Amino acid sequence: MQLQPVRPTAKASAHLFTGDVYLTPVYSGTGPSRMTVVLVRFTPAARTNWHSHAVGQTLHVTEGVGLVGTRDGTVLRIRAGDTVICPPGEEHWHGAAADTFMSHLAMFEAEPGGSDPTTWLEPVPDEGYRAANRIT
Ligand code: MN
Repeated sequence: MQLQPVRPTAKASAHLFTGDVYLTPVYSGTGPSRMTVVLVRFTPAARTNWHSHAVGQTLHVTEGVGLVGTRDGTVLRIRAGDTVICPPGEEHWHGAAADTFMSHLAMFEAEPGGSDPTTWLEPVPDEGYRAANRIT
């Protein structure tokens, strides 16, 4: 057993996120584990770019209210305690609702070869984000 003290929080890259987002690493697996866990804190209206995960991703909301969107126009409103399962390869985004903070644990695995499992795409434009807030 090993205690890992709290790790430093870093501001997320403006190339991959819109708005202010803070990342705190929780777990970085080393073989045979391929698991990564990150606590992601979104300020109001902040969100990821569109992206997909080669081995899928599980999100567990720890605080606040947020949104998850997919290319077919589906938008889910997520709240503390909710868990969202994003299947492998599905393009999606996640973030806070427009008027409140949202934090979630992001849990995902590297591919068996160890390559970066996330494919990053374009930002979610303001109009699309506003529309998502109206949907749900
Ligand atoms: Mn994701």
